Amino acid sequence: MFDNILYQPTLVNILTREISNKLLPQSMLFVGTPFSGKMTSAIEVGRALMCTESADWGCQCRNCQLHRQLEHTSMLILGQGDFLPEIQSALDVYSRFDKVFSKFVVRRAIRKLTIRFHPLLWEGEEAKMKKFRNLLSSVEDYLDQFALEAPRLNDKDLEKTKKGLLEDCQKLSGFVPKSIPVDQIRRIAAWSHQSSNNPKVVIIDKAEQMQDSARNALLKILEEPPHNVFFLLITNQRGSILPTLLSRLRIYNFPERTIEQQKDILMRIFREDSGEYESIKEYFYAWKGLAPGTMKAYALEFRDAIKNDIVDYQLPDLAGRDYFRIFLEELVKTFRQDLHNTADVDFLGFERTLNIVKDSLFSVETLNQNPSLALERLFFNLKEGK
Ligand SMILES: [Zn+2]
Repeated sequence: MFDNILYQPTLVNILTREISNKLLPQSMLFVGTPFSGKMTSAIEVGRALMCTESADWGCQCRNCQLHRQLEHTSMLILGQGDFLPEIQSALDVYSRFDKVFSKFVVRRAIRKLTIRFHPLLWEGEEAKMKKFRNLLSSVEDYLDQFALEAPRLNDKDLEKTKKGLLEDCQKLSGFVPKSIPVDQIRRIAAWSHQSSNNPKVVIIDKAEQMQDSARNALLKILEEPPHNVFFLLITNQRGSILPTLLSRLRIYNFPERTIEQQKDILMRIFREDSGEYESIKEYFYAWKGLAPGTMKAYALEFRDAIKNDIVDYQLPDLAGRDYFRIFLEELVKTFRQDLHNTADVDFLGFERTLNIVKDSLFSVETLNQNPSLALERLFFNLKEGK
């Protein structure tokens, strides 16, 4: 098991041992930077738990077959995700590689979105379901074209399919709740108490984005999780998970992989061998129209403008919340490198900078402040604090 989790040996060892010895806790939190393998690992934990045989990588039991395509009904995934870039890159893999493997990549990328519309999560919400029902069935029709036994699409049909599919997926992703609503947690509670011979797995993505009431409802379930039900929460921001919730979860840290390791993953999974990208994140964001290195360049300019009091400096146009976080991450990297490269080390100054950056991220992601305004404020705060 875990053959698809590359360069996370410590975690893979721990998880394998816990699963094999039936010591896996029922409530877990996977923490780590974006694209460090958290979701893939959570899904693989689900497969290992549901497998009726030895959970080997190539296992052909019915459960594993369903699971591999994210079609096992005993696994639920909820919460926000970054769906489009992954679907785009998967379609790109398909267009370049005529292998069953590439169909898997496409199916899994799309299923990660459609699984958020599992009927159980929306029970009783007829009005809402009505709005996305047609989209969902249209995406299902497209998925049939990537069935493992389906003939390969010719170039012309593929272009048409790509266009329609991406449009539908984009619209559909707009229906995934921004933060997890309490109703979904309540339905999960009811579902997890229904008896079943199979283990059940609930994966909660972006677990930091949960309504207060949802978090309280979840806390209640985690106090005494029903037998054979496993909860895997995923977050990039451990600091945003409340201590009461943290105390009920076993924490698994996913360290960031090195540039070389990430390049190798891009080559092996996404068959991306141009060497243009320094990280998986950069590769995915390129699908959002962000050329590799853009944010790094922005961060360097920003840093220089602060350091040298450049008067006519124009703040970059980050166009959206997603980019805001990437920009800040690059900025922190730049400051950290400066810290390593200078003789007079100023840890206090660096820490002050970190806090200002953290506040800025909080104001955008949690308080919903406009990213351009936040960026302007960040610039002046850092200038004053230097
Ligand atoms: Zn199996």
